Amino acid sequence: MSGAQWVTVLGATGSIGVSTLDVLDSSGAGRVFALTARHNVSLLLEQCRRWQPVYAVLVDPQAAAELASQLAAEGSPTEVLSGTDSLSRVACDERVDTVMAAIVGAAGLVPTLDAARAGKKILLANKEALVMAGELFMQAVRENHATILPIDSEHNAIFQCLPEQSRLPGQAAVGNSIRRVLLTASGGPFLELPLEDLETVTPERACKHPNWSMGQKISVDSASMMNKGLEFIEACHLFALPPSQVNVLIHPQSIVHSMVEYHDGSVLAQMGSPDMRVPIAYGLAWPERIPSGAEFLDLVSSADLQFRQPDLERFPCLALGMEAAARGGATCIAVNAANEVAVEAFLAGHIRFTDIPLVIRQTMHQAACREAETVAIILRLDAEARQLANEQLEALARS
Ligand code: NAD
Ligand code: MG
Repeated sequence: MSGAQWVTVLGATGSIGVSTLDVLDSSGAGRVFALTARHNVSLLLEQCRRWQPVYAVLVDPQAAAELASQLAAEGSPTEVLSGTDSLSRVACDERVDTVMAAIVGAAGLVPTLDAARAGKKILLANKEALVMAGELFMQAVRENHATILPIDSEHNAIFQCLPEQSRLPGQAAVGNSIRRVLLTASGGPFLELPLEDLETVTPERACKHPNWSMGQKISVDSASMMNKGLEFIEACHLFALPPSQVNVLIHPQSIVHSMVEYHDGSVLAQMGSPDMRVPIAYGLAWPERIPSGAEFLDLVSSADLQFRQPDLERFPCLALGMEAAARGGATCIAVNAANEVAVEAFLAGHIRFTDIPLVIRQTMHQAACREAETVAIILRLDAEARQLANEQLEALARS
């Protein structure tokens, strides 16, 4: 680790972005080059005051103008940019060493991919980018000697448990040296809810995760277990594993963040408090270790650790994610797009929680099947799948 690494935080105002700045603050592990957000002027202003980054980006032009005038009035050195192109610009600037990719959803794809093409060290929280463009993304990482460090806690755990010579893309194949990875899942807030009550759960209840505090979209994804479906696809790409070598296990306590099983019967697990500052600190300091600010694990007073098979009737979204992983590129794009559309509609009170898998399933089965070889094709498939998902929403509204 270099104490002087320049860091761009994409999605600085979100749950992961705020935790990243918290770790940087307490550890001094880097300097902030740029901070970006969609439209949250007040939080980005506060963050600019503290960090004095070279650039601040607000995608929304009106919000950017407001931030620029506030910062100028304070004599701030920070230059304010707007528009989606500016996200790539501040991720790829030659002064940047490290990019925290923490935009939520498909919006994170292009700047994260551009950072890979610019050969950056990428701390990858934005799992949707890998779900949509896994092959293209991993190819860009290999060809441009970028470094990708998973921040999703499960993938960070797997990374830590893998043999050192096969952790990074382009090194020895992981598949031969291990038997399988065991991807753990808390099961979210509805693990024990009577099945018939799922229909009437509110967005507020879906966002109340028992162990983690996160942004709204990933909270709903955790409640439906679509999050684990996306993570299943993410694991296949990150570690070049076939779906048959990825196994999902419910572990309600969220203490074991995932495991790797070896051919000799050894199982290596990574454990810790459920606090995203742990994987974030790991990524920032890798290959060294720094304090993260998270509570240390007290195994004596922790609850008993339990593990069980996921119930695919309760969590059809997990099955859909696993099916998409087996079918490949275009299906993964469709599942991700339909899920984003459905979750937004659920949060807005337009559909029921149990409609989410219906929208995804229909979209997935209607979506085009073709090779997703370029960003342009990926973005077109994404737009087409959103269109199909919106038609599903209209059909649900009529029924
Ligand atoms: P969040 O909703 O709290 O924050 C999202 C950030 O992205 C905000 O800064 C927002 O301004 C920005 N953003 C949203 N839409 C944008 C757009 N169209 N263009 C540019 N910027 C935009 O989300 P989060 O919970 O911090 O999650 C971020 C990513 O990290 C997601 O992909 C999520 O799956 C992943 N992740 C999060 C957690 C967690 O604990 N929160 C854990 C693992 C993985
Ligand atoms: Mg996760």
